[in-house]
Amino acid sequence: MKSNLSNTLIKVILWLMERHIEASTHLENKIMTPDTTRPSPFFIADNRALDFLNSVAAPWGSEIEWLGDGFNLLDWLKHAELIPNSVLIQFREQTSQEELNKIAEQTRELREWFRKFVSTHAGQPLDADVLIELEPINRLLAKNNGYHQIGPGQLDSDPDRSALHWQQNRRWLTPDMLLMPLAEAIGHLICHANFTRLRNCEGPTCTLWFLDISKNHTRRWCTMAICGNRAKATAHREKKRAANTKSKR
Ligand SMILES: [Zn+2]
Repeated sequence: MKSNLSNTLIKVILWLMERHIEASTHLENKIMTPDTTRPSPFFIADNRALDFLNSVAAPWGSEIEWLGDGFNLLDWLKHAELIPNSVLIQFREQTSQEELNKIAEQTRELREWFRKFVSTHAGQPLDADVLIELEPINRLLAKNNGYHQIGPGQLDSDPDRSALHWQQNRRWLTPDMLLMPLAEAIGHLICHANFTRLRNCEGPTCTLWFLDISKNHTRRWCTMAICGNRAKATAHREKKRAANTKSKR
C-alpha cells in the first residue's frame, strides 16, 4: 500500500516536472521565435544605442514599430543581445502584460527623447553645454541596480593577461530594469563616440541612423540592399534618360 502511494507520488512529480519543462520550452520559443508579421529588427548601426533608434522605421514605405508592446520589447531586447535570455524569460513569466506594456511605453519615450538629442547634435562634436539636456538620462541611470563581480577570464596563454575578469552584473528586481541596458548604451555613445560620425542614411525617406566607422568615413546608406541599391537604380535610370534625350536632339 505504502509502495503504491509513493509510486503514485513519483508519477505525479514526474508529470508536473514534464509540464514545467514544456511550459519553459514554450516560453523560450515564444521569445525566440521571430515575429512573422514583421521583418526582423535592424541592427545595422554599428552601435546599440543607434540600433535602438532604428527600432521604428519605414524601410519599405509603411512604418514598422518593433517596440509596440511589452512582448515586442522583450523580443527586440533578445535580438539586441543586451539582456541574458534567462532574464527575459523570467520577466515574461513573472510580469503582467499590462506592466510590460507600460515599460514598452517608457522605452518608446526614451527612444524619442534620444532621437531628438541625436537629430540636434549629430554631425558636430559634443561639448559640456549639452549636460543640461542630459538630465533625463542621468536621472534614469541613477536608478541602476548594477554591481561588479570577479569572474573567470578568457582562457589565454598571454602571461600578462589576468585569468580573472571584472564583470558587471545587475539585480533584475523590477521590470523597469529592462530600460537600463538601453540607458547605458545611450550614455556610452554620448561619452565615447565622435558625434561627427553619426549619420542618417541618405535615402530620401529613410530614417535609419548609423555610426560611420568605415575607414574613410564615407558610409552613406543604412544597407546596400535597401537604400544603396535603390539609389544606384535611380542614378542608372537618370543616366539612361539623359542619354536618350541627348540622342534625340
Ligand atoms: Zn536607408
